[in-house]
Amino acid sequence: MTGEPRETELLVVGSGIAGCAAALAGARAGASVTLATKATRPEESTSYWAQGGIAVSRGDAEQFKRDIIAASDGLADETAVDVLVESADEAVEDVLVETLGVDFDGDDGHEYAREAAHSEPRILHVDAATGKHLLGPFMSHLESHDDVEILADTAALELVTAEGRVHGAMLEQNGEWAPCLAGATVLATGGVGACYGRTTNPPTAAGDGVAMAALAGADTADMEYVQFHPTAFAGEDGDDRGTFLLSEAVRGEGALLRNADGERFMPDYHEDAELAPRDVVARAVRAERERTGGVSLDVGPVDFEAEFPGLASACRDRGVDIEAGIPVAPAEHFLCGGVAVDTEGRTSLDQLYAVGECARTGVHGANRLASTSLLEGLVWGLRAGEAAAGNEPVAVEVPELRDSDPSLPDSFAEEKFIRLRRVMDDYVGIERTPSDLDRAAGVLRRLKGEIDAYIRTRTSRSLYELRNACIAALLITRAARENETSRGCHHLVEEAAADAD
Ligand SMILES: Cc1cc2nc3c(=O)[nH]c(=O)nc-3n(C[C@H](O)[C@H](O)[C@H](O)COP(=O)(O)OP(=O)(O)OC[C@H]3O[C@@H](n4cnc5c(N)ncnc54)[C@H](O)[C@@H]3O)c2cc1C
Repeated sequence: MTGEPRETELLVVGSGIAGCAAALAGARAGASVTLATKATRPEESTSYWAQGGIAVSRGDAEQFKRDIIAASDGLADETAVDVLVESADEAVEDVLVETLGVDFDGDDGHEYAREAAHSEPRILHVDAATGKHLLGPFMSHLESHDDVEILADTAALELVTAEGRVHGAMLEQNGEWAPCLAGATVLATGGVGACYGRTTNPPTAAGDGVAMAALAGADTADMEYVQFHPTAFAGEDGDDRGTFLLSEAVRGEGALLRNADGERFMPDYHEDAELAPRDVVARAVRAERERTGGVSLDVGPVDFEAEFPGLASACRDRGVDIEAGIPVAPAEHFLCGGVAVDTEGRTSLDQLYAVGECARTGVHGANRLASTSLLEGLVWGLRAGEAAAGNEPVAVEVPELRDSDPSLPDSFAEEKFIRLRRVMDDYVGIERTPSDLDRAAGVLRRLKGEIDAYIRTRTSRSLYELRNACIAALLITRAARENETSRGCHHLVEEAAADAD
C-alpha cells in the first residue's frame, strides 16, 4: 500500500450515466458515497458521446417491450425488459428533467424521435449530442452533493474480497494505491472498446468491471454478443481508436453506401438496403471493404452541412472531401453481455453490484435496440444505488500489490495491447469460425500468462487495464466458442466462407 486507505458505505466505480445514477440513488438513500473514476473529464465516459438520445415508454410500455425483444433476436429477459420499460418515464422525468434540469429538444422538451427498429417515435434528445447534455449536469450535481465524494483520475485495480463477499476495491491515484473498504460496491465501468482495433468507445473502456468481477468469481453472461456499428469513420492512418460515428440518422435521411468501385451494394444484401438491421449492414460493409478495398458514405442525397453540422465539421477536421464520400468501416460499439445481475443490479457475489454497459441485465439479449443503453444505465444505476445503500464497511485483509519493477518498460502495455487487438479483430470480430476462436483463445491465454507474471512484480494502471482487457477478451472468445448458434450480433460462418472473404 502506498496511498491513504479509505472507508465508505457505498463505493461506485465509474462516472458514466450508470455510475452517476447509482451514486445519486445511494446518497438519496442516506449512504455516504465514494465515486471513483478513471475519468478526468466527462468526455472520458462513453455516456458523453451518446448522440441519438434516450428512449422512454411514453405510457405505452407494452409496445416498447415488443420492440426491445424483437431487436434482441428474441433473447431478451422479459422480466428485465418489464423493469426497464415500466421505470423509463419516471426515471427520466425525476432525474434528468427535474433533478438535473436537462432541456430536451422540442417546445416543451417532448420532441420524440423515431429510430431504426422502434415502432414509435419515443427518443428524447438534445442537439444530436444527448450524452454531453446529460453527463455534464450529472457530474456537476454530484460534485455539489454533500454525501458524495468524487475521486477523479482514480482507477479501481481489483476488488477486495473475503469469504465470498466483496468489501470494496484497491484504488490507484497518481501512481499510488490503497484499499477503499466499502459496505457495498457498484461497478459501472462501461464497455470493452479497448479490446478492438477500431471502436467508438473512449480509451477508458477496457472491460475493467467485467474482468475484476470475473476474477473475484462473479458470473458473467452473454459475452459473445458484441455489437459492431456499421458506419464509423475510417481513418487512413490505421489508428481508429475513438473513431466517431456516422449514425443511422444519416442513412435515415437518405445517405447511401458505396464500395470502392462506386457501386451501391446494400440492396444486394437486404431488402431494407441501407436501413437494414445494424449487424446486417456491418457484415456487408466489412465484406465490401475486403472485396473492393473500401466503402464510403455518399451524403449527396442529404443536406449534410445543415442537418449534421457536427459530423460535417468532424469530417473536415480530418481533411475529408465530403462530396467524394466519407470513408466508413464497422467499429466495436457496445457489449450486450457482462456481469450477470438481477433486476436490482446484484451480482452473484455478496455486496457486489454491476450496472450499465458492464452489466448483463438481460435487456439486450443478442442485440441492442438503439437508444436503450442510456436508459438501462439510468434505471439500473438508480435501483442498484438504492439497494446497495445501508451497509457499513468491514475491516478485512486487503490484497498486497507489489512495488514497481523498474525493468519493465513503459511501452510494454501498449505493445501487448496492439497484439490483443489484432487477435480480437482477426478472430473474434463480426464473423467468427470455431477454428479462429480456438486460435484466439490460445494466443490470449499465453498473453494473460505473460501479463500475470508482470503484475506479480509491478503495479501500474496500464498493466491492470491490459490484464482486464485480456480477461474480457478471453470471456468474449470463450462465450463465442461455446455458443454454436448465430444470433443477433454473434455470427458464425463456415470455415471455407471465412477463408474466401
Ligand atoms: C458514439 C456512441 C454513441 C452512442 N449513442 C447512444 C445513444 O444515443 N443512446 C443510447 O442509449 N446509447 C448510446 N450509446 C451507448 C451508450 O452511450 C453506452 O452504452 C452507455 O453510455 C454506457 O454507460 P456506462 O455508464 O455503463 O459507461 P460509461 O459511460 O462508459 O462510463 C464508464 C465509466 O467508468 C470509468 N472506469 C472504467 N474503468 C474504471 C476503473 N477501473 N476504475 C475507475 N473508473 C473506471 C470510466 O472512466 C467511465 O467514467 C452510444 C455509444 C457510443 C460509443
